[in-house]
Amino acid sequence: MPPEAAIPPETRTGIGYDSHRFGPPRPLILGGVTIPFDRGLIAHSDGDAIAHAVTDAVLGACGAGDIGELYPDSDAANKGRSSLEMLGNAVQRISAERWSVANVDITVIAEQPRIGPHRADIRQALGAVLRIPADRVSVKGKSNEGMGWIGRGEGIACIAVATLTRIPE
Ligand code: MG
Repeated sequence: MPPEAAIPPETRTGIGYDSHRFGPPRPLILGGVTIPFDRGLIAHSDGDAIAHAVTDAVLGACGAGDIGELYPDSDAANKGRSSLEMLGNAVQRISAERWSVANVDITVIAEQPRIGPHRADIRQALGAVLRIPADRVSVKGKSNEGMGWIGRGEGIACIAVATLTRIPE
């Protein structure tokens, strides 16, 4: 008799997007890592577009809302709040619903700064918060080939996809 086929674990996938405009100098934080750059990102929080996109992907995968619902801009308590802390809270929220993160895949779109030199640090920082090894966090940088607002260096965009696995009861 052939062996019984293993039942694959239930999975869900979510997508997240975020963008921020460059502004006056302030620490540029992406994926929890401070990146040397002559401009910062304008935001109510620390402006970490990678963390924001990943948070929305994680929440979106199990229909748990989005970062704007959890941390409204209108709430003074969120001013300058660490985006890794917000991501950590989202992970806590989904784990309470019996989901764990399997992997995330991230594309950062910007002419500057280059993401490559910071990739390893970002994978490490996000992996720690997502409770997965760094090799399950993929980070890719793309330029926009000089086109549009990204091409003019006005800001940065980030797209993230997260896959979640069901935690057995
Ligand atoms: Mg944002």
